[in-house]
Order: sequence, then C-alpha cells, then structure tokens
Amino acid sequence: MRIEDDMTPKLIGETYLKKATPNSPQRYKYGIYRCQYCGKEFECITRGVTSGNTKSCGCQRGRWFKHGLESHRFYSTWNNMIQRCTNPNHKVYKDYGGRGITVCEEWLDITTFIAWAESTHPNMEGYTLDRIDNDKGYSPENCRWADRITQNTNQRKRNTNTSGYVGITSNGANWTARIMVNNKRVGLGTFLTKEEAVQVRDNYIIDNELPNKLSTEY
Ligand SMILES: [Zn+2]
Repeated sequence: MRIEDDMTPKLIGETYLKKATPNSPQRYKYGIYRCQYCGKEFECITRGVTSGNTKSCGCQRGRWFKHGLESHRFYSTWNNMIQRCTNPNHKVYKDYGGRGITVCEEWLDITTFIAWAESTHPNMEGYTLDRIDNDKGYSPENCRWADRITQNTNQRKRNTNTSGYVGITSNGANWTARIMVNNKRVGLGTFLTKEEAVQVRDNYIIDNELPNKLSTEY
C-alpha cells in the first residue's frame, strides 16, 4: 500500500444527497469523512475524495488539495469555476453559487474537466469558458468556449435593469436603448415608450445582422 492511499479521508457512515448551494436545484452526494492527517471529521462531496481532489479536511493545503495540475493551462479556469460556485467568500459568489449556479458532479474532478477542455477548446487566444444558458450551471451540455464579444452579447440582464429587456433602461420618464457591438456599447437613442425602444433595438440587430439576441429570444 502506498502511503498516499493510506491518507485518503475515511468515510464515516452513509453518503447522502444535499443541495450544492442553498439556492441550487442540483444535489451532490456528500459524506462525513475523517481526516487521516489530523483526525478531524468533516463533510465534503464524495466525488472530491474519489477523484483525489480532496485529500484532507483542509488542514494540509486547503480544501482543494494540490494534485500536481496547478501549472496546467486549464487549472485556473477550473479553479475559478469551482470557487465562484462553492466558496461563499469569493467576490462574485452571489452571482454564481449564491443564485444556484453549480458545477456538474463530473467536473468537480479536475482531470475530467481538463479532458473535456482539451478536446473542445479552439486553441486560439481570447476564448474563455462560457455558459450557453446563464441560469444553468457548468456542465458539458451547457458550456462552450467563447470570445469576449460573444460573452458580452449574451450577458444576462443586470440586476438593476427594471425594463425586463436587455439593453433597455429608463430614467423614469424616457427609455434608452443601447447595444454591445464588437465589445463596445452603442447608444441607439431615447424613446417615449419601452416598446419603441425595444423595437428600435431589435431592428438594429436585424438590420446589421448582429449575433445579439432579439427581445423575443429571451
Ligand atoms: Zn485534517
């Protein structure tokens, strides 16, 4: 037996399903483990232990224990994704884990994520991990590699947006239409009604054959 195997956290009792985050519909398989380094009992996702990502209670080198892949080109992509969705102290957690955005169970294992990334990345600069549906989590079905233009084009409505339409805002009296084109914001004018502003923006998308979503598409 290798020493490393002997140090794998030991499962105490049964595993159980639990929500990945307080607002998530997705459940992960969890268990209570005993840390083989310090003896402490801790709860974690079983996949973390079986994949080798979780090797201690955290007393060693953090929750996501080193696995020799830190220098891999997709390591920071994977780590940022995990942190945004699982670490309540992360600065954008409220927009991810906090609103139920999760990482699919297979991708909790960095090696599975890297295998997917290697086989799908276009190998051109500027492409980052993008979720196709912003209200769904990170999984092979809902992810692709997108350049910044595509990501901005599909940005979700801002929390402060009260119009219900992307790119349409009100100052209380009038409605202003704006659109992201080639990563730059373009003003399309100010209108008396919301409907008019939405129509102008939709027409602009159609006339210029832009990839932005029409109001009827979200
Ligand atoms: Zn420990």
